[in-house]
Amino acid sequence: MTQQKLTGTERGWWIVSLENQVWLPQGVLPSGTANQWLLQGHMARPIGEWQGETVWLIRHRMTSNMSSPRLIADRDAKLFQMVGRGVQLAEFYRSHRYCGYCGHEMQHSQYEWACLCSHCEERYYPQIAPSIIVGIRRDDHILLAQHQRHRNGIHTVLAGFVEVGETLEEAVHREVMEESGIKIRNLRYVASQPWPFPNSLMTGFLADYDSGEINHDPVELVSADWYRYDDLPLIPGPDTIARRLIEETVALCRQQ
Ligand SMILES: [Zn+2]
Repeated sequence: MTQQKLTGTERGWWIVSLENQVWLPQGVLPSGTANQWLLQGHMARPIGEWQGETVWLIRHRMTSNMSSPRLIADRDAKLFQMVGRGVQLAEFYRSHRYCGYCGHEMQHSQYEWACLCSHCEERYYPQIAPSIIVGIRRDDHILLAQHQRHRNGIHTVLAGFVEVGETLEEAVHREVMEESGIKIRNLRYVASQPWPFPNSLMTGFLADYDSGEINHDPVELVSADWYRYDDLPLIPGPDTIARRLIEETVALCRQQ
């Protein structure tokens, strides 16, 4: 957890991040020794391990090759998780320089990812926003939608943020009704994935169609429709929870 000044001989993976961007020279995360990448003299903090090597966070903006972590979202899931942690921690420390209650300058905890106010003793942790994502099956069809926010031709399952005072299950039923106008049943949990855009934790579910006709929300969605499992449009890349939910739904469709 402790920050240290790099001498140059430290080894590992280097997450250089500021303002939700990460340094990806040649489109990849740099690895090797600090001086190999001219990182000596920077303050760095170990934030985990990947492939047996330390993952370091340096809160800094390089003059070039600063990119969105989306660039590596469909590569190794564990690496993406580490980069997401780094980008979110960099943003957390940047947005928590002063205490929200009393306005005094804060310090970083040495023992956990937290900021401490020595004046009023408040303690702040990185914000994590729970969200839901759900694969819905109707016989041998799956519900896929195109989102207004990502006009890249990709069709994916429905998703949305959990509201304050709401269970995950209630959030799934509400989001599905709001975005598509249908009712679902047989809701079951599958898996979760941290999703750093900007600070979400996606909880993945499968469900079956119950009733209603699709009537998509034009504010959120360009389109929503049923697709037969063996005739799907462009779907999200591997190593994403959306892809996994689609594949598990397709497997269920096949058994029909
Ligand atoms: Zn305070």
